[in-house]
Amino acid sequence: MTRLMIIGCGGVASVAIHKVCQNDEAFGELMIASRTVSKCDKLKKELEGKTKVKITTAAVNADNVEELTALIRSYQPDAVLNLALPYQDLSIMDACLAAGVDYIDTANYEPEDTDDPEWRKIYEKRCKEAGFSAYFDYSWQWAYQDRFKKAGLTALLGTGFDPGVTSVFAAYAKKHYFDTIDTIDILDCNGGDHGYAFATNFNPEINLREVSAPGSYMENGKWVEVPAMSIKREYNFDGVGPKDMYLLHHEEIEALGKHMPEVKRIRFFMTFGQSYLDHMRCLEDVGMLSTTPIHYEGKEIVPIQFLKALLPDPATLGPRTKGKTNIGCIFTGKKDGKERKIYIYNVCDHEECYKEVGSQAISYTTGVPAMIGALMVTSGLWKKPGVYTTDEFDPDPYMEALNRWGLPWKVDENPTLVD
Ligand code: NDP
Repeated sequence: MTRLMIIGCGGVASVAIHKVCQNDEAFGELMIASRTVSKCDKLKKELEGKTKVKITTAAVNADNVEELTALIRSYQPDAVLNLALPYQDLSIMDACLAAGVDYIDTANYEPEDTDDPEWRKIYEKRCKEAGFSAYFDYSWQWAYQDRFKKAGLTALLGTGFDPGVTSVFAAYAKKHYFDTIDTIDILDCNGGDHGYAFATNFNPEINLREVSAPGSYMENGKWVEVPAMSIKREYNFDGVGPKDMYLLHHEEIEALGKHMPEVKRIRFFMTFGQSYLDHMRCLEDVGMLSTTPIHYEGKEIVPIQFLKALLPDPATLGPRTKGKTNIGCIFTGKKDGKERKIYIYNVCDHEECYKEVGSQAISYTTGVPAMIGALMVTSGLWKKPGVYTTDEFDPDPYMEALNRWGLPWKVDENPTLVD
């Protein structure tokens, strides 16, 4: 029986933990280890008696490699699923290497302190050479390739919905529908309404950093960067209806661009309501999205962290959120010499998610694929030494698992394209 360690106990982790507990044929034991152990204990109490999975909890600071290595060594899990923040990716990978355990996460590394001069030097070089300026990129984690290979360990990066499922959709399209893929448009639509004028659906700091950054897409193997929110389209989403969506930089573009170099253009769009955009612009204009500490009444505070403390905790949006999400990818290309287009997507209902696991659909659509990624690695289906993203494995067992574990997908063979 598989023994899994999950690090973090926030919105996404809570869903993944529920799903691990539902899947007690595959998972026998689970340790929930996080900074605030009371959250882990609370969830353990809620789930015990409803699952055969034996749950233990621990307090850990995942920034501290030695402390985490000792905890992994003492629990001896088959894999560690990192559902803390992208800031902890590298320290958790280091601890997994030291303890000899497979590693899984849902978001690529970015530093907590973007003013750190050492990081800044490497970042600025990358901006110039690669042509995109997002704070996050895969280079830091891809640099672990040889170490994971040598250790015979698997690191599966980015198994949320986007990235994660969207890249599995790309591998599935390539395997079953196309000889060559020419374009990929990833569309992330949240038609949910939580009733607040402004709130983020996952960690506010990570979310606001992502959406306030310049947008970018890949064309003929090169990045094209545009000002934030400057490319807007309207799309009519199944289950949701027409929504405005905006081009964003997103991490799967980097992995897909590398692994599917024949694709001529890869773009990512996310829907935003006007209220969200107005609030975000205002917060940005007054400096509230800054990650640079300021001194206030004798104390050092980081504006975006202070803002996080003021905003609703994403984990509390569940009971208030109504409506659906629709996330998927539109592919164009050729099969047997003929032009072809398909759209693979999932529609998820916020209220249904809340009924099932007590969370809204954004945490649900990330937490379910996180459990599935852990299942793929620990079952051996997706085990190969090295560092990989989800487009680099056989998509079929993952696609089957999505249907089984709550994220069924559809294929539309005649979708409307995005211009
Ligand atoms: P939350 O802020 O809700 O949860 C983060 C959890 O990590 C908290 O329990 C927090 O502890 C814990 N944590 C933070 N720092 C440490 C540390 N140093 N040591 C131990 N534990 C720590 O975030 P979300 O659940 O919203 O997001 C989790 C991850 O999922 C993020 O990496 C996010 O980027 C990713 N994500 C991926 C998506 C995808 O589709 N691929 C979509 C959405 C999110 P505490 O309780 O003390 O704060």
